[in-house]
Amino acid sequence: MAKKSVKDLDLKGKKVLVRADFNVPMKDGEITNDNRIQAALPTIEYILNEGGKVIVFSHLGRIKTEEDKAKNTLRPVSERLSELLGKDVTFIPETRGEALEDAVDELKNGEVLMFENTRFEDLDGKKESGNDPELGKYWASLGDVFVNDAFGTAHRAHASNVGIASNVESAAGFLVQKEIDFIGGAVDNPERPFVAILGGAKVSDKIGVIENLLEKADKVLIGGGMAYTFFKAQGKEIGTSLLEEDKVDLAGSLLEKAGDKLVLPVDNVVASEFDNDSPSEVVEGNIPADKMGLDIGPKTIELFKEELKGAKTVVWNGPMGVFEMSNFAKGTEELSRILAELEGATTIVGGGDSATAVQQLGFEDDFSHISTGGGASLEYLEGKELPGISSISDK
Ligand code: AMP
Repeated sequence: MAKKSVKDLDLKGKKVLVRADFNVPMKDGEITNDNRIQAALPTIEYILNEGGKVIVFSHLGRIKTEEDKAKNTLRPVSERLSELLGKDVTFIPETRGEALEDAVDELKNGEVLMFENTRFEDLDGKKESGNDPELGKYWASLGDVFVNDAFGTAHRAHASNVGIASNVESAAGFLVQKEIDFIGGAVDNPERPFVAILGGAKVSDKIGVIENLLEKADKVLIGGGMAYTFFKAQGKEIGTSLLEEDKVDLAGSLLEKAGDKLVLPVDNVVASEFDNDSPSEVVEGNIPADKMGLDIGPKTIELFKEELKGAKTVVWNGPMGVFEMSNFAKGTEELSRILAELEGATTIVGGGDSATAVQQLGFEDDFSHISTGGGASLEYLEGKELPGISSISDK
């Protein structure tokens, strides 16, 4: 069922609750990267231009102690938001109470108010993260409509997303809408051929994703550390490469079920140590007993490039090697480049490390969509229902 978008709402004169994802990296009280605040601007500006009153909120970090509160106040975020919007943002350092309610009542059309970190409510019995029904109802009572623009927490049912949406008309903001259109679109109704590329450290983290995409995609290319558990299942020697012994049988049954749909590396960059300075070489087939696979090799890059030719939809999650070390980053870099240059395809990067790699390489504008949520995008790719999205009002 299609979900309401912020464009479907009547916003003029309305108090619009906006759940943003302002979980920005902070160091000593300073924001070190404001990408997430910038990313929230289109939704907020749209509401303001339509004559709405914005009440914006977010979580920031995890709150387990009083000291966590001091480190994770949203005040610096409200200041940066104000700079970026070029207008005042009233900050209320509370998550409930009279000061907040009065400030909301005083808001005029086109004005912005931000209240404090929603997870401050976790200190007293996990009210936010446990989706306390009274809290969701209370926050909902502060506004007329609710816009959820935080994809990063969409896989969790919290008071600030599901709780509010259960009590008031709600809609997806532009960021969440884009995730629904691209990731939801690829999983539910992809233009074919649909090729999925999976990498990263562990098979165990991505079993659900591999299983779902093996059903949905026309090809599934596997690289990264997880490939070696599949090699083991094929009876190959993998030396000291990453191995999940207890997942070898599962990898074997996936291989059997998938047939030639599942494509594994044909060569690997190996070294003796998990160290950027450890001398490396490319080997095909078996990996020598004292070596570990740390990246896909050049023949695999060519093979993956061939498999991607003509693809109309591509989803990528997980690096092809230990891309944090420059000598083992080539597979991930080349794959980014191949996808960036792929013509006529919708290219989607799941959040997390592959998104970081694409951004570091400066290819972000060459992809159709780079997801803003690591965990949420994985669960979406697994075909799971995301409570943060399913709780949004149907169109
Ligand atoms: P994930 O969070 O599951 O996507 O895994 C990302 C991590 O997998 C990165 O930190 C990579 O360094 C790591 N990784 C990728 N390939 C390998 C490999 N061949 N051996 C060990 N770690 C790897």
